[in-house]
Amino acid sequence: MPRWRNWSGRLEARPAELRFPRSEEDVAALVRAAAADGRTVRAVGAGHSHAPLVPTDGVVVDLSGLSGVVATDPSRRTARVRAGTPIHALGRPLHDAGLALRNQGDIDRQTIAGACATGTHGTGAGLTCLSDAVVGARLILASGEIVECGPEQNVDLWQAARLNLGAVGIVTELTLALRDAYRLAERGWRESWDTLEPRLPALASGSRHFEFFWYPGEDEAVVKTIDETNEPPRYPLAGEGDRLAWSYEVLPNHRPHPHTEMEYSVPAAQGAACFAELRAMIRRDFPAVRWPVEYRLLAADDVWLSMASGRATVTLSVHQDVREDETAYYRACERIFLEYGGRPHWGKVHGLDGAALAAAHPHWRQWWAVRDGVDPDGVFLNDFLRQRRPA
Ligand SMILES: Cc1cc2nc3c(=O)[nH]c(=O)nc-3n(C[C@H](O)[C@H](O)[C@H](O)COP(=O)(O)OP(=O)(O)OC[C@H]3O[C@@H](n4cnc5c(N)ncnc54)[C@H](O)[C@@H]3O)c2cc1C
Repeated sequence: MPRWRNWSGRLEARPAELRFPRSEEDVAALVRAAAADGRTVRAVGAGHSHAPLVPTDGVVVDLSGLSGVVATDPSRRTARVRAGTPIHALGRPLHDAGLALRNQGDIDRQTIAGACATGTHGTGAGLTCLSDAVVGARLILASGEIVECGPEQNVDLWQAARLNLGAVGIVTELTLALRDAYRLAERGWRESWDTLEPRLPALASGSRHFEFFWYPGEDEAVVKTIDETNEPPRYPLAGEGDRLAWSYEVLPNHRPHPHTEMEYSVPAAQGAACFAELRAMIRRDFPAVRWPVEYRLLAADDVWLSMASGRATVTLSVHQDVREDETAYYRACERIFLEYGGRPHWGKVHGLDGAALAAAHPHWRQWWAVRDGVDPDGVFLNDFLRQRRPA
């Protein structure tokens, strides 16, 4: 029986089949066969999710064989890309067409479909998550049928597919809204929390990208701002915190240490207060925690399941070494996040059931209704998702 593990090694599955299709036709045929056998089908990208979205005893479909840019349209500033393309493999071909992603997350190892499926985001008060860039998707449904959707075609399906948790169908291609290629200059520094706190509002609104990692042991933050520049790139690239180059070269970082992570979004206006309460709780109740709390910003969007759906957002992430038991720590953090109207990151650890998710996410029920409409037998549902169906 094949074995599958996620990036951190914390999640493991023994699916009946682990498949590596190289064509859309093969994906459609294997979905049809699994559905006829009553088996679950779960897609996997780069396996970087901390939430158990992939594990199943049915069929795991690794989409890495469906990779590459299909076409670019510089006049519309869009590109059609294959689902399994790693984000790092998009940078250069898009750049050669004069284009770039509007924003990226902290790393670029994820596949584009996997990243969009969970609402992966970077930071910036004026910038939205990757799912918001999805202006078209090509999907294989549970019936094996191949459908296209977008803002003018199968609109509800498109809304469900932009951030789909792997539960709507297998995405084979995405059309992404992009912008003209751009250069960024990054500035990073360390600062004590005491001096950073009063400067937070000005820093958060003063740059295209702003974030900090607060380290509980030192009560210090590693702060980063990134802004557009017309300066020529400086090669070889300096280390994180001092880079000047094209966006796809500056935005991603190297995060090799295996960890688990919980992340919640709260309304932007509540971000600083939520962080203050989290900081006080960690210092009081979990003085041994050494991993940082990450603070980022996101603009509101209209993606049904986005963490920032309909509201400007601050995201707060807590981390723990994968060898540690994070349960009590994350539970205490989650209590605070929920007090502030928090919504969990879909790719990370959370403890919410279907009712709590429906309370946090205004479109949770609507998303399920569309999902169930195209997959009434639950071919694309594993136990983790089935248990989170709203009542
Ligand atoms: C070190 C590290 C850094 C991270 N940094 C960030 C960050 O900065 N910002 C952020 O928001 N998140 C971040 N994440 C979380 C990560 O971006 C998400 O969990 C993302 O979904 C992982 O992408 P993946 O390709 O590994 O997808 P997977 O984890 O393999 O899959 C995620 C979901 O996508 C589905 N899926 C994958 N491919 C398809 C497809 N073709 N069709 C349908 N469904 C599909 C899967 O079924 C699953 O439900 C980070 C994670 C790690 C481990």
